[in-house]
Amino acid sequence: MYIEQMKVGYMDVFCYIVACPVKKEALVIDPAGNEEDIVERIDQNEFVLKYIVNTHGHADHTCGNARMKELTGAEIIMHEEDDRLFNSPEGQIMARQLGFALSPHADIFVKDGDDITVGEITLKVLHTPGHSPGGICLLGDGNLFTGDTLFVGGIGRTDLPGASLTQFMNSINKKLLTLPTETIVWPGHDYGDKPSSTIGIEKWSNPFL
Ligand SMILES: [Zn+2]
Ligand SMILES: [Zn+2]
Repeated sequence: MYIEQMKVGYMDVFCYIVACPVKKEALVIDPAGNEEDIVERIDQNEFVLKYIVNTHGHADHTCGNARMKELTGAEIIMHEEDDRLFNSPEGQIMARQLGFALSPHADIFVKDGDDITVGEITLKVLHTPGHSPGGICLLGDGNLFTGDTLFVGGIGRTDLPGASLTQFMNSINKKLLTLPTETIVWPGHDYGDKPSSTIGIEKWSNPFL
């Protein structure tokens, strides 16, 4: 599995290019800024981009969707609950206030247990509500893309519209901390002192868990 981590936009969002090196098909997770640079990396590797996958519907993660889709024709994948909440007129107010570009509606909705496949690689969808109702983590080949649910040494906020601390702790404890300790954690922001971690390290050293 090819994984490239890129820091994009002005909120230190980590975007990921995930690709099958054999079939040269790729998906991009949260391409929220520097879209031309992301496309350049995809082109340099001769990948064909199939999907734009959002870990959740917050504008700091979806603001590049429109441009990315325009540049590549890839389909947008999101959990339905976040598409509904954050792509509603009320949900778009926060995005506008923060100056983020709005996202088109998702082309494909995913739910817990679904597979997203590019070439010979598969990412499994783990529905992890709490930071947002339709937040997802993506698990493949010992790699876990955690969006704003789990950071290196930190966790996501639970005080925003649609958030729930109870759901959040449930998601973390039942879906993430039960994974093998060597699972690599790829977070949605560059908030830690390292760009990635493991479930084991976070379990034992993350002060919020
Ligand atoms: Zn968020
Ligand atoms: Zn975020």
